[in-house]
Order: sequence, then C-alpha cells, then structure tokens
Amino acid sequence: MILPKSHRLTPEQVAEVTAIVGEFGCSIQPIIGAVRTIYAIVGDEREELMINRLEGLPYVERIDRIQSPFKLMDRRSDLATHRIRIGGVTLGEELLVIAGQCTIDPKNPGYFLETAAAMKESGAHVLRGGVWKPRSNPYTFQGDSKSIEILMEASRRTGLPVDAEVMDEQQLQVALDAGVHMLQVGARNALNYSLLRAIGRAVAKRATVVLLKRSLHMGTLNEFICAAEYIAAFGNPNVILCPRGTSPSLDGYRNHPDESITPLLKEKTWAPVVVDPSHSVGKASYVPACALAAVAYGADGLCIEAHVSPNQGIGDDPKQALTPSVLADTIARAKQIWTLRHSAVASV
Ligand code: PEP
Ligand code: MN
Repeated sequence: MILPKSHRLTPEQVAEVTAIVGEFGCSIQPIIGAVRTIYAIVGDEREELMINRLEGLPYVERIDRIQSPFKLMDRRSDLATHRIRIGGVTLGEELLVIAGQCTIDPKNPGYFLETAAAMKESGAHVLRGGVWKPRSNPYTFQGDSKSIEILMEASRRTGLPVDAEVMDEQQLQVALDAGVHMLQVGARNALNYSLLRAIGRAVAKRATVVLLKRSLHMGTLNEFICAAEYIAAFGNPNVILCPRGTSPSLDGYRNHPDESITPLLKEKTWAPVVVDPSHSVGKASYVPACALAAVAYGADGLCIEAHVSPNQGIGDDPKQALTPSVLADTIARAKQIWTLRHSAVASV
C-alpha cells in the first residue's frame, strides 16, 4: 500500500510507480477516499528491491505492507500445523523445560554429570550445557571443544537430549557430528545471517531442533521471526523462538525482560516460544518469578540455567544458576500455570 505525502499522486507520479511495480509483476489499484487517495500494490509485494525503490521516491510518505515478510514461519502458512517434538514433549501440548549449566567446566566434568542427573530428577526434558561461550571479555573462559564429550556422556547417562550453542560453522559441524539434539543460536548471533543459513542447510536432513535466541538489539518482532525464516527457508522448520531479554537493561536486571512479547509473537507466527528467564533477569533470585510470568504470558517452554553447586560453577552459573531444588519447585509451579492457562484458553 503506497501512502503519498500529498492527498493524491499526480498522473505522472502514478505512471512512475506503475512502471516500478510493473517490473516486479505487480500493478497499482487506487483506493479513492474522501480526503486522501492511497494506492494498493496488487501482486506479491514482498520484493525488497521494489519496496526500497518506492520508498526512495520523494513524494511517497511510506509503504505499508499487507503481506507478511515470512512465507514459512507465518501463522497463516501451510507449515502452521507443523509440530516440533523433543525430549518426549510435543511443543504446545506440554510445557517444555530445558535446564542445565551455562557452561560446562572441562576441568571438573563431575559437576556437569551431577547436574545432568539432577536436571532429570527435577523434571527437565532437555539438558543444556555450554561448550563454546560468547564472552564479552576476551580474557575470560571461552569454552572448550573437549566439553562436547562431557555433554554427550551426560546425555547417554540420563537419556536426555542435549542443547548447546554454536557460534560458527566449525562448531556447528563438531556439534552435529557428536549428535547434539538441539542447536542454540545465541543472542549475539541471531543476526548472523550466514550462520543462520548454514544451520538451516546443515540440519535440513537431520531435522535437528534449533533454539533461536532473540538478539540483544532486535527491535521489531518481524526481525526476530525473519531470522527464524532464514533457518526454515534453508531447509529446517524446527525452529523455536527464545526471548531472553534485550539491551539496554532494565535498571537492576541484566537485560530488559521481554517474556511479555509471547502473545504478540503468536499473533504472527506458529513457531513455539520458549522463554529464557535466566539471561533476561540475570540473577538466580529473580529467575523463578520471571519463569512463571513467561508461562502466564503463554510460553510453550522455559530454558533455565541450573547447577548442583552454583558457587563452584563458571560463566554465568555462580550468579544465575538455580539449585536443583529451586528448579524443581519452579517447574512444578510453572506446570500449574501452564495447565490453568490452557484450560482457560480451551474454555473460551
Ligand atoms: C547462554 O545461553 O548461556 C547464553 C550465552 O545466552 P545468550 O546468547 O542469550 O546470551
Ligand atoms: Mn549463560
């Protein structure tokens, strides 16, 4: 939809916009109002170059798009009936819980193996463990490829599928070769389109689940869903959206909590939403409330950092990780809210 700066376009201007959209197989239909005339673009209006050329015209105020920019992740797409299943849970049918350490300590594998057993005991369905870490400070621990063996050993012992973040194509290959079940794209890489493409391509045949975090600086929801569209467009529709707080932070919290965007995401996309309260609020004592709020807002799952002995942990664990007993309590309450919410939705 073209909105002109003046009440209507001149015949010369109509001819110019008609010629531009014509190059992309579209036509123009004026909609004459009492005060203002606007111009519908008839045809597929998703062509970026066409929109950019129209937006560049000095007499155009703005272009409003009616069609969604995401063909696969849109809730009206044919994929909307697609269901993602992991750890015995079909997303949308039961609350999914991903839990485990921020970072695996390769020098003390015992902690991770103990944490893994405790996560299973607490009711988690997927075990998370950071092998490679995106650290703001280059002198801090960056992760270690050796931790992948500890992660997979924990998976074998518990029978839980595992989630690990990959930051480049080399790590992606190592993770896939090891048999990681869920690939995490972190907040810092959610806008790394070559990595998103590579993940979409690499996991197309295996249908590995991808947990896509919301970037620290993602403003619009479309930007978030378009990042998921990249992965789907290159072959894998098993993408879960993960709000995890944005920057700048809310005074006192690590990031600006964003669990409230879930209903807005669900108006636009069929993708399941799994909220990460740990990185959102950034401190163990605030995490349970944020987790429960996320479920009240309609989250399909939670991704929570937890450790058998947070003080002995590395990375975010000393400040963010829940102990297994707090995790178990949070999961139990979250499940109650999930059930309440779903019975309320069903009775509407
Ligand atoms: C993490 O999950 O440990 C992590 C680094 O998350 P994020 O990318 O959301 O900061
Ligand atoms: Mn972390």
